[in-house]
Amino acid sequence: MAQHRLKAVIFDFDGTLAPLNLDFSFLREEVSKIALKYVSESILGSLNHYHILEMIYELEGYLGEKGKIFRKEAFSKLRELEVEAASKKSLFFYTRGVLKKLKETNIIEGIITRTCIEAVVTVFPDYKSYIQAVVTRDDVTRVKPHPEHVMKILNILNIVAEEAIVVGDHPTDIIAGNLVGMKTLGVLTGRTKREDFLKVGATYVFQDIRGLINLI
Ligand SMILES: [Mg+2]
Repeated sequence: MAQHRLKAVIFDFDGTLAPLNLDFSFLREEVSKIALKYVSESILGSLNHYHILEMIYELEGYLGEKGKIFRKEAFSKLRELEVEAASKKSLFFYTRGVLKKLKETNIIEGIITRTCIEAVVTVFPDYKSYIQAVVTRDDVTRVKPHPEHVMKILNILNIVAEEAIVVGDHPTDIIAGNLVGMKTLGVLTGRTKREDFLKVGATYVFQDIRGLINLI
């Protein structure tokens, strides 16, 4: 790991530690229904909203005073749908084994996720046995790929970026890590292909998180 020893691993959650079973188009539709209580269809259509959370942020900014109320309502609906999806899945069968191995090697472990803590706890009720900090969308003003998300967990863990690697199944994980100078690892257990991880500059691409063991 170059000149810096690896001290911390920051994991994404869905698609990385547990299967990804969220139907993003359905979530977007549900959030759009809420958005339409605040703005017209043409305004909603004019906002750049490829990703759901960014759509919420954009509309929050557009709405001014009412923005916070909209954000709260949208997040609450998302939470309901995410917890429902979470109740239908388990961690990958190897996840606890990898986390345990890292812990035994004195690696600090954290999670950054665009979902809510309730969804994480539903799938991984014993996360505190392995994980020292979780930063969800409710803990930041802007989620990854915004660097605020990764900087927040590095600050909580008191780790400098060069001593940490971010591991995720989506380009947003890699982009966020690269922006602050972390090592980055893409895993192929979500919906992203190897070449797409390489395009955004992932340091490593492995089949799944078990590949991490070779880096410590
Ligand atoms: Mg993910």
